[in-house]
Amino acid sequence: MAEKSSEISGMYRKSVDERRKAVEEFSSLSAADLAPLLAQGGKEMEVVGKMIENVIGYYPLPLGVATNFRVNGKDYLVPMALEEPSVVAAASHAAKLARAGGGFHATVSSPTMIGQVQLLHVPDPYGAVQRILGEETPLLALANAKDPMLNKVGGGARKLEARVISTPRGPMVIVHLLVDVRDAMGANATNTMVEALAPHLARISGGRSHLRILSNLAIHRVARAWGTFPKGALAFDEWKGEEVVEGMLDAWAFAAGDPFRCATHNKGIMNGISAVAIATGNDFRALESGAHSYAAWKAASGGVIAPLTVYEKNASGDLVGSIEVPMAVGTVGGATAVHPIAKLAVKILGISGASELAGVMAAVGLAQNFAAMRALATEGIQKGHMALHARNVAITAGATPEEAELVAQRLVEEKMVRADRAAEVLKELRAGRAK
Ligand code: NAD
Repeated sequence: MAEKSSEISGMYRKSVDERRKAVEEFSSLSAADLAPLLAQGGKEMEVVGKMIENVIGYYPLPLGVATNFRVNGKDYLVPMALEEPSVVAAASHAAKLARAGGGFHATVSSPTMIGQVQLLHVPDPYGAVQRILGEETPLLALANAKDPMLNKVGGGARKLEARVISTPRGPMVIVHLLVDVRDAMGANATNTMVEALAPHLARISGGRSHLRILSNLAIHRVARAWGTFPKGALAFDEWKGEEVVEGMLDAWAFAAGDPFRCATHNKGIMNGISAVAIATGNDFRALESGAHSYAAWKAASGGVIAPLTVYEKNASGDLVGSIEVPMAVGTVGGATAVHPIAKLAVKILGISGASELAGVMAAVGLAQNFAAMRALATEGIQKGHMALHARNVAITAGATPEEAELVAQRLVEEKMVRADRAAEVLKELRAGRAK
């Protein structure tokens, strides 16, 4: 049999049906295998089909809404799209506890992104830095000429920074253009500006311009949120409120002192933030990259990656949680204004722009982290998680949604949330019903 080739020329020019056919042939699938894709069509495909290249369908993630969120005195239902069970429930529960302390308070910096230009082979790097900074005003004007629309809505290039870095291939001059991108995520806006500046920077420096691209380490675009979790509201099962507070402070200190724990601590924060990013059509890879590099950047002096949240005890003994995280999110541009569900998610949220969205997302990150920490510091993460995970295991074993509830219940009771046991339980259940 001839080798299969993935070199399919002009895949992007084919219709969705033709692409599906090509995949069917390449992967030796039947029309039945492709059924979940074949059911998709109509208006959704018209939009989704143009968002990326070589589209054969769309991938439905569950979209849930987290309840109980109150940020700066306003209530929100928060749309979250993700595959992991227990995240929406945990966020909703944490938000309920924070509500008891007055809800979350959020502040957001100006929406300033950094665009970078790399300059190579500069004969006098330190002199070049000074010459570049000396021409800041005309260079900013050049950048701003590239996006009159952004200027019109009150944004635009604001500041130029330049420095010399040492690298394995010698010194380089790195220029930062700071751009106020208003309600956009801002990558395209910033990239266009730095590309326009690059030839001028090369001329002024006497070097060669190389990379011209946004930095996802958005240190000038951070969202902060904090909330008080009254100790009285934290008691559960055999744990007294004071014990939960102390347990959570020790759990947080572990993340502050150990990179292995901190990686997971920060992942839990992004469970919430990325889910809202996906729901609202934002670039979750940019947010993930920004958050984790921000943690590393903040901790660079100590050599340990930093947790993005901090927990303290206030004078009344209540737990105060706070978060500071880069939040390059938009409500215009990218997919945010194209994807029909993203547009709906923004309507559900009832937000007026990117800054409000950033504040809510910071609060979600804090709530998510709080919920995980509380579980970890008390009964452990698996109890609640496995109860929800059990449903997925049951469905994997072939259960219908209705059967899945019953199978999941059994698996949790038996403390055996495993696919093989799910199959057995399902068999028993069906045998029992057939009688
Ligand atoms: P965009 O270019 O689609 O929209 C931004 C533009 O909209 C602005 O430049 C402005 O001209 C206009 N605009 C109208 N009203 C506005 C308002 N109220 N506020 C701000 N701008 C307004 O999108 P973008 O946000 O510049 O770029 C986002 C896209 O770039 C995302 O799809 C992202 O995935 C992608 N991207 C990301 C990276 C990265 O993260 N490293 C790199 C390249 C591209």
